[in-house]
Amino acid sequence: MEFSGDSRPDVIVVGAGIVGLSAAFSLQLKGYSVLLLDRKGPAAEASRGNAGAFAFSDIIPLATPGIMRKAPRWLLDPLGPLSVPPRYAFRLLPWMLRFWRACRPERVESGIFAQTDLMNLSKHALLPFLRKTGTGSMLRRDGNLQVYESRAEFEASLPYWDARERCDIPFEHVHGSYAISEYQPGLDRRFVSATFTPEWYSISDPLEYALTIADIFDNRGGRIEIGEAVAIFPRNDGASVRCADGREFAADKVVICAGAWSHKLAQTLGERIPLETERGYNTTLPNGEFDLRTQLTFGAHGFVVSRLSSGIRVGGAVELGGLSAPPNFQRADVLLAKAKSFLPDLVTEGGTQWMGFRPSLPDTLPVISPSRKSDNVIYAFGHGHLGLTQSAGTAMLVTDLVEGEDPSIDIHPFRADRF
Ligand SMILES: Cc1cc2nc3c(=O)[nH]c(=O)nc-3n(C[C@H](O)[C@H](O)[C@H](O)COP(=O)(O)OP(=O)(O)OC[C@H]3O[C@@H](n4cnc5c(N)ncnc54)[C@H](O)[C@@H]3O)c2cc1C
Repeated sequence: MEFSGDSRPDVIVVGAGIVGLSAAFSLQLKGYSVLLLDRKGPAAEASRGNAGAFAFSDIIPLATPGIMRKAPRWLLDPLGPLSVPPRYAFRLLPWMLRFWRACRPERVESGIFAQTDLMNLSKHALLPFLRKTGTGSMLRRDGNLQVYESRAEFEASLPYWDARERCDIPFEHVHGSYAISEYQPGLDRRFVSATFTPEWYSISDPLEYALTIADIFDNRGGRIEIGEAVAIFPRNDGASVRCADGREFAADKVVICAGAWSHKLAQTLGERIPLETERGYNTTLPNGEFDLRTQLTFGAHGFVVSRLSSGIRVGGAVELGGLSAPPNFQRADVLLAKAKSFLPDLVTEGGTQWMGFRPSLPDTLPVISPSRKSDNVIYAFGHGHLGLTQSAGTAMLVTDLVEGEDPSIDIHPFRADRF
């Protein structure tokens, strides 16, 4: 077999989103020669336009009994926080069935423990990672304020705050519009309670952050190739990646970080991983006068408002609509209209709309493990709403796996064959 390129790298990372970039950089720091392969180039997909949060307190899985109660109401509104386009509903059934099973209380409990472990690792890994990439000045420690429109909505959230308390996550409940305005002025008076989470950080701009890591990787001698991987082949002495244009690259290890497309590559190894995409929408408004002091979460409406260096980003929503349907930007319009009614002084003209594909597994945990077919192929994908948040911790685990070391945390809950 003829292999393409200059010299054979130690590791090929497929996918230059924030997970692949962080893994590639961390491996490079350990002295490995790394080829980063992406069909479009760095940060072309979900990592480009997300809300920029390091949401370390977000340890509660999406699959909970609570969401199963809310989902029917949400699904009735085709532009509501959760939607399934009718033409995709049938294809989604196996994933939904697994999601429903993941809502069992014992699964929720074990999911919270696994997520907490990965969050703690990611939080501790973040500052050293920012220092090594020279991106420390992009970090903001402005917390998150989740707001509630009624006492009932606030009380329904309490079991999840209790679970966070058991995991030592600091937060503070505040009641009444005056107390809320101390955290964020300008909120409509309909919000009666709120919870402030201080250990929820953000990055000044997720695209700039990802591109800076790509530049540093490149400047340190990392190789970035544009090419679409179509098949992975385990070999006795490593693994190889075939591209759509016929090129084939080989290395000692191949790491799959192709976001919402990763299951397609796993399938070429004969592994079926139930990865779906939760499509999310947002609008980035030009920087204006609005004094946004913290990230705001409107949980009942499934969206957040974030302050970035590029503007104020209003977005969220979950559309379980697959990888090929065109975006429905009415979703972004609806979120923006709600943001205007919740923050009357926010100027909502002149924004740029975006849709991104969150890579999501039914139990809200990523896959971080060697492939069952070969220890030379390592999976790191499926971080759903938390790929930026967990990128530094995931990079650490990928490095452990490439080095053949015991992983820094128990990765059993993240194995590829758990479904
Ligand atoms: C609206 C929205 C808001 C969000 N907000 C947050 C947030 O505040 N905090 C947070 O932590 N997360 C957030 N997320 C989630 C986060 O963006 C994702 O979890 C994360 O970006 C996933 O990173 P990734 O590297 O796994 O995938 P991606 O960024 O999607 O990157 C995958 C890469 O793989 C490449 N690729 C795919 N297939 C192939 C192939 N066959 N060959 C070669 N290359 C390939 C793609 O071109 C792409 O560059 C949000 C997501 C959305 C949509």
